[in-house]
Amino acid sequence: MSAIERDVVIIGAGASGLTAATKLRAAGLSVAVLEARDRVGGRLWTNHIDGAMLELGGQWVSPDQTALLATLEELGLDTYSRYREGDSVYVDAEGVRTRFTGDIFPVAESTAAEMERLITLLDELVEQVGVTEPWAHARAKEYDRISWSAWLAEQTDDVEARDNIALFIAAAMLTKPSHSFSLLQALLMAASAGSFTHLVEADFILDKRVVGGLQQVPIKLAEALGEDVHLSNPVRRLEWSEDGVSAEADNVTVNARYAIVAVPPNLYSRIDFQPPLPRLSHQMHQHMSLGLVIKVHAVYETPFWREDGLSATAFSPYELVHEAYDNTNHEDPRGTLVGFVSDERADEVFKLSAEERRERILTSLSHYYGEQALSPVVYYESDWGSEEWTRGAYAASFDLGGLSRYGAMQSTPVGPIYWSTSDLAAEGYQHVDGAIRKGADTAEAIIARHQA
Ligand code: FAD
Repeated sequence: MSAIERDVVIIGAGASGLTAATKLRAAGLSVAVLEARDRVGGRLWTNHIDGAMLELGGQWVSPDQTALLATLEELGLDTYSRYREGDSVYVDAEGVRTRFTGDIFPVAESTAAEMERLITLLDELVEQVGVTEPWAHARAKEYDRISWSAWLAEQTDDVEARDNIALFIAAAMLTKPSHSFSLLQALLMAASAGSFTHLVEADFILDKRVVGGLQQVPIKLAEALGEDVHLSNPVRRLEWSEDGVSAEADNVTVNARYAIVAVPPNLYSRIDFQPPLPRLSHQMHQHMSLGLVIKVHAVYETPFWREDGLSATAFSPYELVHEAYDNTNHEDPRGTLVGFVSDERADEVFKLSAEERRERILTSLSHYYGEQALSPVVYYESDWGSEEWTRGAYAASFDLGGLSRYGAMQSTPVGPIYWSTSDLAAEGYQHVDGAIRKGADTAEAIIARHQA
């Protein structure tokens, strides 16, 4: 086992850790990045499955994600628009399929009016609560005490309106059941994207993709860091004092002045901190957990839905696959659909055999696109819950009451140890943009302390 000396050791070669390492090095500090996996990128992973290029993790970029857009520009990466010509599809509680355009689902006029009213109300609450310190709002505790589903039930008796509004945060973003997190947590999720309206606008939130895949961001950052990135080196133990840290990985130990733990919070306890972290950290970390979603990829010889005038954008709070899109790669003659199965529905289908699960999922896709959806040439399920170094998707959120109780402390360094991940971000929370912002902010904080 070799031991090396650096100014900063970064644990985790995801977008956040690599951004921090890049900024620190640019400021003249020496770094070493220790990564558990045999690849960089963490929740960004572009892979080839049965001859199809698939983005198994994060992929979309929206116009508000200015930190990510700036990084793409710096790295010389090109983007392209998600295919969105034609009608979207909605399936109601009775299984009736309707084509529509725009963002409001084709529901009864009274339901549509309720949805619009709730969206306006939520936009106002998001504006009041803000993104940087939702826990500091005068009504934060009140908003953090009520679940998202209970709050929606208080607002309207229109079940379809609230099922649809619940979807935008629960199944589609936090990937947890709507009774398991608070209104305050929901408002933070919307605030991090600029407004609740932005979450409803698929053309905004799922605007662009990167030619060749979003994992190129961490790959290019890591290439520039060269030998300072150590793959297949999970950090098992982190000794620390006010004077510095010693990070023990499988093949290397890094002695440094500071550490950045750039892993999702559900994995903090995989590291043996010595001395142990303070009581507050121990408690706080137990209230942050990842959601669960299966990202389903189905590749067809052609994007057959386009001939039918469909964009492939599809939603239903009543379907196993609650949302799906055209995910055809740049200049690819084959057509790819991507769909998502979240939280308790994912639990249900994971009880089935792989064949039965595939059949259930493809049947759900066929409710949106017809029988041709049943026969893809390539089919794959991204299962991040089984990934040892992630354990869920997309990212972490607090349980009921956790955000107001602990949010203010979530990023506070412990001695020389800093925390950096999309799961702790304000703008871009849970997204690559947030990972990059958090990495840059953490680097800045260390640089300022180092120079003081
Ligand atoms: P991670 O990417 O999780 O990086 C943490 C790294 O730490 C990993 O490489 C891990 O292996 C490593 N690690 C963990 N423990 C240790 C240890 N003990 N020692 C050493 N290394 C360790 N975001 C978007 O912006 N757009 C999207 O379309 C989008 N879709 C998504 C779809 C899916 C299926 C998933 C899973 C995520 C999606 N996201 C999306 C979210 C986005 O991918 C993440 O928010 C972001 O990539 C997180 O980056 P990070 O650096 O904070 O954490």
